[in-house]
Amino acid sequence: MLADKLVLTVDDSRTVRRFLRTLLTTHGCKVEEAASGQEAVRMSTEKMYDLILLDLLLPDLDGIEVLRRIRQKDQTAAIVVLTGMGGIKSATTAVREGADGYITKQDLSVGGEAQEFFYALEQAMEHRAGLVAQKQLQELRADFYSMITHDLRNPTSSILLTLQLLLEESIDPLTENQRELLMIAQNAAEKLRRLVDEFLDFAKIDAGYLRLNPDMADLRTVVEESVRLAELQAQARRQTLTLKLPSEPVTGWVDAERMKRVVENLVSNAVKYTPEGGQITVELNATDGIAELRVSDTGIGIPPEQLPALFQKYYRVSAAGTKGIRGTGLGLLIVKEIVEAHGGTVRAESEGSGKGSTFIVRIPLRTPE
Ligand code: ADP
Repeated sequence: MLADKLVLTVDDSRTVRRFLRTLLTTHGCKVEEAASGQEAVRMSTEKMYDLILLDLLLPDLDGIEVLRRIRQKDQTAAIVVLTGMGGIKSATTAVREGADGYITKQDLSVGGEAQEFFYALEQAMEHRAGLVAQKQLQELRADFYSMITHDLRNPTSSILLTLQLLLEESIDPLTENQRELLMIAQNAAEKLRRLVDEFLDFAKIDAGYLRLNPDMADLRTVVEESVRLAELQAQARRQTLTLKLPSEPVTGWVDAERMKRVVENLVSNAVKYTPEGGQITVELNATDGIAELRVSDTGIGIPPEQLPALFQKYYRVSAAGTKGIRGTGLGLLIVKEIVEAHGGTVRAESEGSGKGSTFIVRIPLRTPE
């Protein structure tokens, strides 16, 4: 791993520098030297080193300060600090400031274990390579999110808005045929936006930063609006979609957009996994400060042994009934993450294949803290 690496050694002692040069060149490294902190900072801005060995006791600048200045400009070089006896405290400070490892000078002294020295250097280089790769991945992810948001979500929203304007006949009256075609387009664009939102949520969940935007909302409205979206889908499959809402408001501190996604995912699964002519029931109730949503269908059901795995990433039931039904296996994972972020639970019940399924979401009805 060290062969051909460009190494900068920083130490005011010529003897130490010479010793390090001998040791490192025998392992195929190219070595350059700095005798002071200032020189080290200057050299590291002029060239990209793979590894910097930095003594913390320098005549001109504090070693930690040198480390800080190097790190400001260079995130990719592995830095290993050299400490004296009892230098553990400064070594830990150095690691906090961006060093990738430390070596005590005694380990370097004649008779010290060269093997351990090289092992420590390799460890430090691996540590840095890991951080660099992680950062690149994060940047790639950030680019990907913004690509999805700008290049897919925004145009989809403007398509939806345009279609809505046409359908409202605020521009020109429509013939029945035109209206029907525009509604098909609207339905498809809505599906696309849902898919994009699902991927965005999944990406956030995967990166570990799904944050809710809660507000006081009546869950009856949330459920009603989401079910309305699925009505067309259900009609197309000649299914009966029944909505049962309580007469009193079910008000809680929730992220209404995210909760809509929960309901939409569950209802669109019910539509998808229920054959033509089946029945789907969506019911909302509230008791003792807990809202309970039940989405049940008379569809293909779920084998009991597969129930616990449903909410895992990419999980899709393997059974004859699911063949030919398209999906990503992400919808239920997103449901679970959103529900849990609200302090709630979700579970599935089914008597088995062909016997329908029920998904039950329970959420505490909180008020803002
Ligand atoms: P998908 O995109 O595959 O629908 P989900 O995460 O939403 O992904 O669901 C995971 C799996 O759970 C589905 O592939 C399906 O096998 C099963 N499933 C979900 N909802 C139902 C349902 N209402 N009836 C039967 N099976 C279902």
